[in-house]
Amino acid sequence: MNIIILDGVLFVASVLLIVGLRKLSNPDSASNGNILAAVALGLGVLVALVYPLETQSNNYLYIGIGFFVGGTIGLISAKKVPMTAMPEMVSLFNGFGGLSAALISLVWMVNNHLSGEANELGIVLLNLFLGLVAFIGSMVAYGKLSGSLKDDQLKIPFSTVLNIIILLIAIGSIGVFSYNGYLSTSQTILFCVLSLLYGVTFVAPIGGADMPVVIASLNALTGITAAISGIITDNKLMLLGGVLVGSSGIILTLLMCKAMNRPVLSVFFGNFSSTTGTANQVEGNAKEISASNLAIQLAYSQRVCIIPGYGMAVAQAQKIVKELEEILEKKDVEFKYAIHPVAGRMPGHMNVLLAEADVSYDKLLDLDEANSYLESTDVAIVVGANDVVNPSALDDPSSKIYGMPILKLASTSNVIVLKRSMNPGYAGIQNPLFFKDNTKMLFGDAKKSIEILLKELKNV
Ligand code: NDP
Repeated sequence: MNIIILDGVLFVASVLLIVGLRKLSNPDSASNGNILAAVALGLGVLVALVYPLETQSNNYLYIGIGFFVGGTIGLISAKKVPMTAMPEMVSLFNGFGGLSAALISLVWMVNNHLSGEANELGIVLLNLFLGLVAFIGSMVAYGKLSGSLKDDQLKIPFSTVLNIIILLIAIGSIGVFSYNGYLSTSQTILFCVLSLLYGVTFVAPIGGADMPVVIASLNALTGITAAISGIITDNKLMLLGGVLVGSSGIILTLLMCKAMNRPVLSVFFGNFSSTTGTANQVEGNAKEISASNLAIQLAYSQRVCIIPGYGMAVAQAQKIVKELEEILEKKDVEFKYAIHPVAGRMPGHMNVLLAEADVSYDKLLDLDEANSYLESTDVAIVVGANDVVNPSALDDPSSKIYGMPILKLASTSNVIVLKRSMNPGYAGIQNPLFFKDNTKMLFGDAKKSIEILLKELKNV
């Protein structure tokens, strides 16, 4: 097929991809956007399959095997994975993106007998480094998100110094090898080991509430490696997709750093939390409330605000929360949702859940809007959130999460916390909010608690 036609198809695919991604920013157009982006990537795959015929011999057997094995694993896992395990799944996919980019570099190197022009070899080695860092870093992040890797299992002594040394050696090696225009097989293997080591020392020391920053930066790294792979393989759609993912990942990293109040520059040196995280003792008694008393309180309120967190995802309580919204609005109660940027286990987690329940976007308040709204809210219902409402972040310099902006509930008249026990959240620290005078606990699975609450509300 004529190269001009193939380039034309790639151009159309690029436009479809951009339009598709743009549509993802609104819940109403998101599913169409998803389809457009999938069609664009499908076209990209087709063009990549046809392209080699014009220039060199084909490898359709290998491609077919890869397509079949990868496609089957992807399809089965996408169908089997529960919604609550989505963040881990996204981390895995991100890691495999990085690994693919690293393999593209390795194939280029083998095809070119481990040598090349300084600029070519430099970019290929950079891609190999970033791809392997994104791969192994995402695997560590997967372990941390799924709970199979605990923060203290991966304590690395002097991790910040180690990180800087490994990073400098890696950058120096890329410089020297590209200047020489050649590296030996053993140097290639050592370089790969070094890259993997940096991936581990970069992600391992960061844990608890700081994980969102790491996840966003790994996402940016994978995007950048996809873009470089697009340059190496001369695939314009891969370049464009990589640039889009890389740049949005960088923006997300900056937003997450802002959300966690962590310095951007320290991200790649790891362990940027300046506190020891030793404080965890909270004294006091938590008060409980019954669903019937809460129903009465809600029915006579003017403003109610939901604060969703990871527990809402676990309980799959988003649809029942929407029913609560509808019932209270019929009683002329103003109803809003306060969204913390790192609530849940992946960026935008709460927005996705609430969009699934058809909650209107104009009811969602961002951190700053929510904090001023919460000052005049009659009842704030915390649905499975914990770290994002923990006041230790504001007033306890020894806390692991000190410095992280939170949803402030000190001035809210009544705070009701829906959770199953007094267990801590992801950061593993107790929450003094539960013992405050204005706070009451409604223990149980969030979905079941709200189901009972709805029944009680019908009798009020
Ligand atoms: P947390 O993890 O702090 O707390 C979730 C709470 O939900 C727990 O205390 C748990 O208490 C409760 N819960 C669990 N299941 C249920 C259920 N079925 N019904 C009711 N409650 C339930 O969540 P937050 O959203 O407040 O904070 C997110 C945390 O995750 C932050 O530390 C953030 O940094 C971190 N993180 C965020 C990522 C992101 O990208 N957004 C990525 C990685 C980490 P109990 O067991 O008692 O029910």
